[in-house]
Amino acid sequence: MSLHAQTAAYDPDNIFAKILRGELPCEKVYEDAHCLAFMDIMPRSDGHVLVIPKSPARNMIDIDAQALAAMMAGVQKVARAVHSGMEADGLTIQQFSEPAGGQVVFHLHFHVIPRWNGMPMRSHTGTMENRDLLADYAGRIKAALGH
Ligand code: 5GP
Repeated sequence: MSLHAQTAAYDPDNIFAKILRGELPCEKVYEDAHCLAFMDIMPRSDGHVLVIPKSPARNMIDIDAQALAAMMAGVQKVARAVHSGMEADGLTIQQFSEPAGGQVVFHLHFHVIPRWNGMPMRSHTGTMENRDLLADYAGRIKAALGH
Protein backbone atom coordinates (compact mmCIF):
# COMPACT_ATOMS: atom_id res chain seq x y z
CA MET A 1 0.00 0.00 0.00
CA SER A 2 1.26 3.48 -0.89
CA LEU A 3 2.20 5.76 1.99
CA HIS A 4 0.69 8.74 0.19
CA ALA A 5 -2.28 9.48 -2.05
CA GLN A 6 -1.53 9.18 -5.77
CA THR A 7 -0.82 12.34 -7.77
CA ALA A 8 -1.08 12.78 -11.55
CA ALA A 9 1.73 11.28 -13.62
CA TYR A 10 4.80 13.40 -14.44
CA ASP A 11 4.30 15.26 -17.74
CA PRO A 12 7.60 15.36 -19.71
CA ASP A 13 6.29 18.31 -21.74
CA ASN A 14 6.02 20.72 -18.80
CA ILE A 15 7.87 24.06 -19.19
CA PHE A 16 10.73 23.21 -16.83
CA ALA A 17 11.34 19.83 -18.51
CA LYS A 18 11.69 21.75 -21.78
CA ILE A 19 14.15 24.16 -20.12
CA LEU A 20 16.15 21.16 -18.82
CA ARG A 21 16.32 19.70 -22.33
CA GLY A 22 17.38 23.08 -23.75
CA GLU A 23 14.19 23.38 -25.82
CA LEU A 24 13.24 26.64 -24.06
CA PRO A 25 15.65 29.37 -22.86
CA CYS A 26 16.35 30.37 -19.26
CA GLU A 27 18.64 32.79 -17.41
CA LYS A 28 20.81 30.14 -15.77
CA VAL A 29 22.73 30.84 -12.55
CA TYR A 30 23.92 27.38 -11.45
CA GLU A 31 24.03 23.75 -12.56
CA ASP A 32 25.48 20.53 -11.14
CA ALA A 33 24.83 16.82 -11.66
CA HIS A 34 21.57 16.97 -9.69
CA CYS A 35 19.98 20.37 -10.23
CA LEU A 36 19.60 23.43 -12.43
CA ALA A 37 18.96 26.96 -11.10
CA PHE A 38 17.61 29.87 -13.14
CA MET A 39 15.85 33.21 -12.71
CA ASP A 40 12.07 33.20 -12.23
CA ILE A 41 10.55 35.27 -15.06
CA MET A 42 7.77 36.62 -12.81
CA PRO A 43 9.81 37.25 -9.66
CA ARG A 44 8.30 37.85 -6.26
CA SER A 45 11.36 40.00 -5.46
CA ASP A 46 14.49 41.08 -7.36
CA GLY A 47 16.83 38.07 -7.62
CA HIS A 48 14.13 35.35 -7.27
CA VAL A 49 15.68 32.04 -8.41
CA LEU A 50 14.12 28.62 -9.06
CA VAL A 51 16.07 25.42 -8.33
CA ILE A 52 14.86 22.24 -10.03
CA PRO A 53 16.05 18.63 -9.92
CA LYS A 54 17.40 17.08 -13.11
CA SER A 55 15.40 13.93 -12.39
CA PRO A 56 11.75 13.93 -13.52
CA ALA A 57 9.64 14.65 -10.43
CA ARG A 58 6.25 16.36 -10.36
CA ASN A 59 6.63 17.76 -6.84
CA MET A 60 7.53 16.98 -3.22
CA ILE A 61 5.05 14.11 -3.11
CA ASP A 62 6.52 11.86 -5.81
CA ILE A 63 10.24 12.71 -5.83
CA ASP A 64 12.60 9.92 -4.87
CA ALA A 65 14.13 10.69 -1.44
CA GLN A 66 17.68 10.24 -2.69
CA ALA A 67 17.12 12.59 -5.64
CA LEU A 68 15.66 15.15 -3.22
CA ALA A 69 18.62 14.87 -0.86
CA ALA A 70 21.05 15.14 -3.80
CA MET A 71 19.55 18.42 -5.03
CA MET A 72 19.28 20.12 -1.63
CA ALA A 73 23.01 20.87 -1.48
CA GLY A 74 22.45 22.86 -4.67
CA VAL A 75 19.47 24.66 -3.14
CA GLN A 76 21.63 25.76 -0.21
CA LYS A 77 24.52 26.78 -2.46
CA VAL A 78 22.17 28.93 -4.56
CA ALA A 79 20.44 30.32 -1.45
CA ARG A 80 23.76 31.49 -0.03
CA ALA A 81 24.73 33.09 -3.36
CA VAL A 82 21.33 34.83 -3.68
CA HIS A 83 21.70 36.14 -0.13
CA SER A 84 25.18 37.56 -0.64
CA GLY A 85 24.96 38.45 -4.36
CA MET A 86 21.70 40.38 -3.92
CA GLU A 87 22.88 41.86 -0.58
CA ALA A 88 19.63 40.62 0.97
CA ASP A 89 18.72 40.75 4.66
CA GLY A 90 17.18 37.28 4.49
CA LEU A 91 15.53 34.65 2.29
CA THR A 92 12.16 33.02 1.80
CA ILE A 93 12.31 29.46 0.40
CA GLN A 94 9.00 28.22 -1.03
CA GLN A 95 7.83 24.93 -2.57
CA PHE A 96 4.27 24.35 -3.79
CA SER A 97 2.91 20.84 -4.46
CA GLU A 98 -0.23 20.23 -6.51
CA PRO A 99 -2.81 22.88 -7.50
CA ALA A 100 -4.26 22.85 -3.99
CA GLY A 101 -0.80 23.83 -2.71
CA GLY A 102 -0.44 26.62 -5.27
CA GLN A 103 1.68 24.73 -7.84
CA VAL A 104 1.48 26.04 -11.41
CA VAL A 105 4.39 24.28 -13.15
CA PHE A 106 4.52 20.52 -12.59
CA HIS A 107 8.23 19.83 -12.32
CA LEU A 108 9.44 20.10 -8.71
CA HIS A 109 11.06 23.45 -7.92
CA PHE A 110 12.20 25.43 -4.90
CA HIS A 111 11.75 29.20 -4.95
CA VAL A 112 14.74 31.06 -3.47
CA ILE A 113 13.50 34.59 -2.82
CA PRO A 114 15.76 37.31 -1.40
CA ARG A 115 14.11 39.50 1.26
CA TRP A 116 14.84 42.94 2.63
CA ASN A 117 13.65 44.27 5.98
CA GLY A 118 10.26 45.95 5.65
CA MET A 119 9.84 45.03 1.95
CA PRO A 120 6.86 42.77 1.14
CA MET A 121 7.05 40.12 -1.59
CA ARG A 122 5.24 40.84 -4.85
CA SER A 123 2.35 38.57 -5.89
CA HIS A 124 2.96 35.00 -7.11
CA THR A 125 3.18 34.80 -10.94
CA GLY A 126 2.44 38.53 -11.09
CA THR A 127 4.42 40.61 -13.61
CA MET A 128 6.96 39.53 -16.25
CA GLU A 129 10.42 40.94 -15.47
CA ASN A 130 12.57 42.85 -17.97
CA ARG A 131 15.15 40.44 -19.51
CA ASP A 132 18.11 42.81 -19.01
CA LEU A 133 17.29 43.13 -15.31
CA LEU A 134 17.07 39.34 -14.97
CA ALA A 135 20.49 39.05 -16.62
CA ASP A 136 21.90 41.70 -14.26
CA TYR A 137 20.61 39.86 -11.15
CA ALA A 138 21.85 36.53 -12.55
CA GLY A 139 25.28 38.11 -13.01
CA ARG A 140 25.37 39.18 -9.35
CA ILE A 141 24.36 35.72 -8.17
CA LYS A 142 26.86 33.96 -10.45
CA ALA A 143 29.61 36.29 -9.19
CA ALA A 144 28.70 35.25 -5.62
CA LEU A 145 28.98 31.61 -6.75
CA GLY A 146 32.44 32.39 -8.10
CA HIS A 147 31.43 31.98 -11.76
P1 5GP B 1 4.67 27.36 -8.80
O1 5GP B 1 4.48 26.17 -9.72
O2 5GP B 1 5.66 27.10 -7.72
O3 5GP B 1 3.38 27.87 -8.26
O4 5GP B 1 5.22 28.57 -9.65
C1 5GP B 1 5.88 28.44 -10.88
C2 5GP B 1 6.90 29.55 -10.99
O5 5GP B 1 7.51 29.44 -12.27
C3 5GP B 1 6.33 30.97 -10.90
O6 5GP B 1 7.04 31.69 -9.92
C4 5GP B 1 6.50 31.53 -12.30
O7 5GP B 1 6.79 32.91 -12.27
C5 5GP B 1 7.65 30.72 -12.85
N1 5GP B 1 7.62 30.50 -14.30
C6 5GP B 1 6.53 30.15 -15.03
N2 5GP B 1 6.87 29.97 -16.32
C7 5GP B 1 8.21 30.20 -16.39
C8 5GP B 1 9.15 30.16 -17.49
O8 5GP B 1 8.83 29.88 -18.63
N3 5GP B 1 10.45 30.46 -17.17
C9 5GP B 1 10.85 30.79 -15.91
N4 5GP B 1 12.15 31.06 -15.72
N5 5GP B 1 9.99 30.83 -14.86
C10 5GP B 1 8.68 30.54 -15.11
